Amino acid sequence: MRIMTTTATDPEVRAELVATVRRFITREVMPVASDLEHADTYPEDIVEQMKALGLFGIAIPEAYGGLGLDLLTYTEVVEELAYGWMSLSGVVNTHTIAAHLIVHHGTEEQKRRWLPRMATGELRGCLSLSEADAGSDTRNLTCRAARDGDEFVVTGTKMWVTNGERAGIVALAVRTDEGISCLIVEKDPGPRFGGIAVSRNIGKLGYKGIETVEMTYDGHRVPADALLGDAGRGLGYILGALEVGRINIAARAVGVARAAFDAALAYAQERRTMGKPIAEHQAIQMKIADMATKLEAARLLTRNAAERKQAGERADVEAGMAKLFASEAAFEIATDAMRIHGGVGYTTELPVERYYRDAPLMIIGEGTNEIQRLVIARGLLARASGKAAG
Ligand SMILES: Cc1cc2nc3c(=O)[nH]c(=O)nc-3n(C[C@H](O)[C@H](O)[C@H](O)COP(=O)(O)OP(=O)(O)OC[C@H]3O[C@@H](n4cnc5c(N)ncnc54)[C@H](O)[C@@H]3O)c2cc1C
Repeated sequence: MRIMTTTATDPEVRAELVATVRRFITREVMPVASDLEHADTYPEDIVEQMKALGLFGIAIPEAYGGLGLDLLTYTEVVEELAYGWMSLSGVVNTHTIAAHLIVHHGTEEQKRRWLPRMATGELRGCLSLSEADAGSDTRNLTCRAARDGDEFVVTGTKMWVTNGERAGIVALAVRTDEGISCLIVEKDPGPRFGGIAVSRNIGKLGYKGIETVEMTYDGHRVPADALLGDAGRGLGYILGALEVGRINIAARAVGVARAAFDAALAYAQERRTMGKPIAEHQAIQMKIADMATKLEAARLLTRNAAERKQAGERADVEAGMAKLFASEAAFEIATDAMRIHGGVGYTTELPVERYYRDAPLMIIGEGTNEIQRLVIARGLLARASGKAAG
């Protein structure tokens, strides 16, 4: 099935948007990112500016009020956001996954109901797949939606819902009689709505400023027309959309890695020991060469995955490879950047410590790297035997 319908974006349009986002990040985000992150403060003003730039509608077709740009453009914008502050790429990620689900599996009426408001950022989306005992093991999820006339009654607890409190819609994975289904649940932003409660705000090592929460559904009623596509096929839809999520994670990893590398390169030329800049010590040069090589490889894998998904090809293997390699590279590059900074790299005076705390999330989120290896191997074996990957 071809699932990406937007045509490739004119490279000049892409370059112009990426340059605009880079200016915005340099002027508005980098001066304040570490302070907001340390205080764990939601970046209201920055998010308002992201709305004005159209970043919530990058991948939503123009017919529904979005910018209708391609996945490669989205990837490059995500890299810029993460370069400034990784949490900002999290603000758009699950929103874009929810929009992707509606674009590709929604009815015309559902698209018109939600996408125009999502494109402006007025209505923001999140993805709620994981539960306490169903992270890697998604098929084990227990949150239940029982059909009652023209409504579903939802009961259960979901974990790890990034953007869950501020979202106005939740792409929610639930168990129905037919199997796992996806509901698009409308709610008011905030800690409570009907039978939905934000039952816990989860403290994190990094990725601060935006919320990741536990959400409890206690007999919450949802109209039957909130069902996305066919009942029982929701997990397949979500796993397809997670290819976009994994490309986002890979692009974020490239952004964090580039920020760490740039900081290390600049510091290595300024800092002097034994009478010369540390950049002239061969031990530091080895690190710089390895960091730059990993960064370049991570970016190329990420672009390859984005282009393949954009072309409508199944990109499970490529998105998995990009996510796996880029996230491990980001963690190694952030660690080396800290080592190149010596003692000051371990302080909160420079953003290097933030890159070091943010990088591991990319190893875990959107399917851990152990799971990516399973996805890659399964996909390769399925292609080798001429079958579609499951
Ligand atoms: C900050 C943050 C934000 C998140 N945001 C969201 C979100 O917005 N929406 C959402 O739905 N989810 C979200 N998640 C959930 C995330 O996708 C899961 O945490 C992740 O998939 C891992 O699941 P788990 O935590 O249950 O770990 P487990 O599944 O318990 O894994 C534990 C360890 O066992 C390994 N493992 C598990 N199964 C296998 C296997 N079969 N073979 C080999 N190794 C295995 C894992 O790789 C890992 O090392 C978020 C998580 C975090 C930390």
